[in-house]
Amino acid sequence: MKTIIEPFRIKSVEPIRFTTRDEREKILVEAGYNPFLIHADDVLIDLLTDSGTSAMSSKQWAGVMDGDESYAGSKSFYRFEAAVRKITGDKFIIPTHQGRAAEKILFSILGGEGKYIPNNTHFDTTRANIEFTGAEAVDLLNEIGKHPEQRADFKGNMDLDALENFIQEKGVDNIPVVMITITNNSGGGQPVSMQNIRETKEICDKYKIPLFLDACRFAENAYFIKKREEGYQDKSVLEICQEMFSYADGATMSAKKDALVNIGGFLSLNDEELAMKCRNLLIVTEGFPTYGGLAGRDLEAVAQGLEEVVDEHYLEYRIRSTEYLGEKMLNAGIPIIEPPGGHAIYIDAKRFIPQIPPNQYPGQSIVCELYLEGGIRSVEIGSVMFGKYHKATGELISPPMELVRMAIPRRVYTQSHIDYVAEVLIEVFKNKDKLKGYKITYEAPMLRHFTAKFEPIN
Ligand SMILES: *Cc1c(COP(=O)(O)O)cnc(C)c1O
Repeated sequence: MKTIIEPFRIKSVEPIRFTTRDEREKILVEAGYNPFLIHADDVLIDLLTDSGTSAMSSKQWAGVMDGDESYAGSKSFYRFEAAVRKITGDKFIIPTHQGRAAEKILFSILGGEGKYIPNNTHFDTTRANIEFTGAEAVDLLNEIGKHPEQRADFKGNMDLDALENFIQEKGVDNIPVVMITITNNSGGGQPVSMQNIRETKEICDKYKIPLFLDACRFAENAYFIKKREEGYQDKSVLEICQEMFSYADGATMSAKKDALVNIGGFLSLNDEELAMKCRNLLIVTEGFPTYGGLAGRDLEAVAQGLEEVVDEHYLEYRIRSTEYLGEKMLNAGIPIIEPPGGHAIYIDAKRFIPQIPPNQYPGQSIVCELYLEGGIRSVEIGSVMFGKYHKATGELISPPMELVRMAIPRRVYTQSHIDYVAEVLIEVFKNKDKLKGYKITYEAPMLRHFTAKFEPIN
């Protein structure tokens, strides 16, 4: 087979800034060894997130110029509405400025004390928006999804038995909605099968509970279905998307992922009464229903992005470039979550540097070393991000996994950038015995990973 190439040529370029190792050492000290506090200008390859970091196409930029900025009824809204509806098939399409704004509106209406909202795995903003209303966010991920070293095609699947038991245990009246996140971001970007979505819907129908998709990476999920699930090889990605959404009563979406834009989101749904309530809230918090917190030009860019993201040459390149980085790492013996997911590679820090215990933040150690060695920015997803302290003893309670996430922005980096990333990683892996543990010298009471400061332990 021939090399899968970037399915675009480059018309506009943005220089990246090279720094020396000495400079990076100083920068890292000034940032308190926290990559969130490094200026983006001091980063050579930025793999902090795939959210809002996509490169827009020439047609999207043309759409930006063509955006209609009318307060009400702008033509850009109608183009946006038609583009979303083509994929979701839903009656009511409500623009929001990000995914979390769609979540905030939906759960303000459906959530509340005593309610439970199951999901394969809630993303952190989804969980936060649910819990903010007093409801409980519950993860019911299939067992295999919890084992980073085991390979399976659909590690994002919902545990259907657990879902049905959960509904019976808590009572139908206390479960206003079931969600499925495609792909499962918090679980390594692993896909959910069509069969699993369909069977989740069957359970929901049995108990008359609506099913919503957290659809941020719906196109990547659809491509995995086409490649891996029997009966879908000859269907187009658009048809697969339409079938996925046909099982859902609605969806929340961050357009910063699979709509290939830098800002935006939406809520898509079929229930008229719920849509009315959402729109009323939208007017208070986001804006009039035909712009909902976005400019007309943003709506144009989303509409165009949704057309481009289901292109199969794009998706082949997208999924392959993530897998390509994963393969290079596995060939070098670097432990990662297997198989590679859609949007990111996750290094298993516990197996990478077993000599550094969780309370010395092994993920943070790798993150710092990647920056020092090659100017690459990644993010710790482990004891820094999710660690809590035991109330009585003050001891650190660590999450089950210590990971480093390298998220791949869409259409931004070429194969040689990714080759470089792999070379830096392999160099760091060779010198893994020299890596140091870290201690926290400052932390905020909540969401500490954004602002914490660290020092290496000598
Ligand atoms: C990014 C993301 C969100 C939140 O979207 P924002 O646009 O960042 O507010 C929700 N769910 C998932 C799965 C995400 O990846």
